[in-house]
Order: sequence, then structure tokens, then C-alpha cells
Amino acid sequence: MIITTLPITPSVNPNIGTFFSPFTVDFVANLEGLKAYYAFNLIGRRHVSLQEACCKLELHAPRLEKIGITISEENSWLDSSEKSLAEIQSYVRQLYGLRILKKEKRIVAQCPCGAVEILESRLNNALQGKVLIGNKCSLCHGEVSKKTQRCLLYTPSPSKVHSSSIWASKEMASLSVAFDKVSLLVSRNRSENPEVVLGGESFFLDVDFFWSFYLCCLYERNSQDEICIVTTHRTLRQALLACWLLAQVYPSSPESRLIVLPTIEIVPARPGGLSSENSIDDFLESLDTFSQRRLFLANGLGLNQKEVALSSSLLYWVKQSIPFPNQIGKVVASIRDTAISEVNPAIVKSLMSKLRKNRTLSCIESSIFRAILRDSRTP
Ligand SMILES: [Zn+2]
Repeated sequence: MIITTLPITPSVNPNIGTFFSPFTVDFVANLEGLKAYYAFNLIGRRHVSLQEACCKLELHAPRLEKIGITISEENSWLDSSEKSLAEIQSYVRQLYGLRILKKEKRIVAQCPCGAVEILESRLNNALQGKVLIGNKCSLCHGEVSKKTQRCLLYTPSPSKVHSSSIWASKEMASLSVAFDKVSLLVSRNRSENPEVVLGGESFFLDVDFFWSFYLCCLYERNSQDEICIVTTHRTLRQALLACWLLAQVYPSSPESRLIVLPTIEIVPARPGGLSSENSIDDFLESLDTFSQRRLFLANGLGLNQKEVALSSSLLYWVKQSIPFPNQIGKVVASIRDTAISEVNPAIVKSLMSKLRKNRTLSCIESSIFRAILRDSRTP
């Protein structure tokens, strides 16, 4: 099995929330002996240019180093690479051949900046209150106009996806119903987007749809190994779409697994304490070692919770817990699901409290703790 993030869009000043997914990928990969991947979204209208996106990634990589993650060509996937483009174009042609992707003439509603570009029939339910306020785009404030044009439409066919948390399974079930046999517009009027030619006709693909094929690329790159995806509550829909695409391109692929992280809020313990509003750099600098930073992040892994609130006083307790007593026990060959479901803030808190009191850890606790700290010492 391999484990991967969803494609992360690097930004100049990210908040701490963006670090929980790569941390969890690295942590579970250590715990279970899996191959870890970090995917990045460098194309599309979230970036001024590809060059600018690459600069943002260059700023992002040293921050990941500070929590013990080194990005390399072997463990990363970029939507901007020539290889990704060629692979995804071939997947698109395959789905077009299977009539899962179809060319049709439809009425499209679009705003001047392109943030709104949707089938007229889905205008009322899909974007209202988000990017669309009434008949205007909330980003460019321009009015939405309607035009009949040639479109590329995708029909999802929701397949079974495994998740360890009950609340996520329920949301996944309702998303499966909402997207079953629905036609989604996946072509765009933006000529900077990745292009595909189908039956002599050229289309520019929606960037989110384009990178959703990344699981297919990773599946092929890893000799068709099973995939576990770390996502968050907010990106659950995109993660599911990527899993469904994998099952449509490779019908015999094993069921994908999702680890769905909660929304994490940092609450200042005192006036002036760090909060979710602070930049990631403030958090990275407030702790001294990558072990301390990883132990802090581990407190946010509430896999059975939709939301986790962390107090900024944890930063102090994390410093007190390390260096920890050198009494880590034998690592058990943990059963995958047990170990993943064992990971929750309550366990991490109890680990920290035991370490502070210099108590012995159980086998499962030891293996979790070693994976959090990336302690590779043999027992
Ligand atoms: Zn707009």
C-alpha cells in the first residue's frame, strides 16, 4: 500500500492547517512501513504563472523539512510535469472511449474571471453562497452570463471507498448519492489549462478535474498497489472524485482508503498566544526541533472527530515532553487498521502525560510514539 496527500496548492503564507495532511502521510507511512507521496497543484488560476507556483513550492519545501519531511523527485507528484500531462491525456482519451466523458452542446454560465464556469442546469445548487452571490461572482464581482457552447461532460460512477471514521463514511454516502449519474462540466474556456484533443476537437480541462487523475498516475507508478489518501473534511469531495476516477480508469483496482482529518482550530491559551490566524512560520519557530513540532501536530489527529480545538498551551507541554525517557519498548507488528484507528488526540495526550511522569509505554503506544517522532532506533 502507498499513502498520499491530495494535491496541495502551495501558497506564500500558508496556515498551520496545511501541514496536518503531509505530517499524517509521513507519520502513518512510518508507522505502517508504507511508501509516502506528496502531491502538488502548480497549475491553474490559483497561481499567477507556473514560475510563480514553483517559487511558492520552493518556499514550502524548507518548511516541510522543519517537520522532518524531505520532498524529492521520488516521493512527489506534480500536476505541472510533462509526464503527468501525457499520462492524464491518455486517461482522458480512455474515458472518452468508454463514454464516461462525452462531448455535448450545453448552456454554460460564466463570470468574467472564470471562477464561475458551470452548466446552467447546476447553477442554483452548486456554487450559491460560495463563489456565487446572487448573479455575481464574489471574486471579480462581475455578472454571470450564459452561452451555448461545445462542452466536455464527465459522469461519475460512485464506487466503494473505505474510511475509518463514522462521520466521514456518512458524508461520503450522501456525496455518492448527490453525484451519482450527474453530468459535470470538466472543460474550461481558459486556454492556459491543460489541453486534450478528442475526435479532432480540442478541449481545455478544468484543473481540479485534471489533477484528480493523480491517483491513476501513482497507481501505475507503484505496480498497481493499493492507495490510502489523507484528506481533510473540507476536501472530502475532491478526494472522493479522485477515488472514483481511479476505479473508472482501473475497474479492477482495490478499494481506496481515506484518512479524513478534522478541521483543526488553534485556540490561544492567553492573550497574544498563537492561534489558527498565525502563519505556519510562527508555529515552526516557537518549537525547537522537528520532534517537538511533530508531537504538536500529532495532537490534531482526531480521526473520529469532525473538528479538533487545540490550545496554544500545548506548545509548552510539547517542549516539556521531550527529550523523553529512553524506555521505548518493543514495536509490535501492528495491524494496519487498528494502528490507524488508534491514532487520536486522546492517545497522544496520554502518551505525553506518561512520558512526563516517566512511565513505561505499551507496545502499541511505543510504535505510535516512535512514528510520530520518526525515531528509527531499533528496540
Ligand atoms: Zn469571477
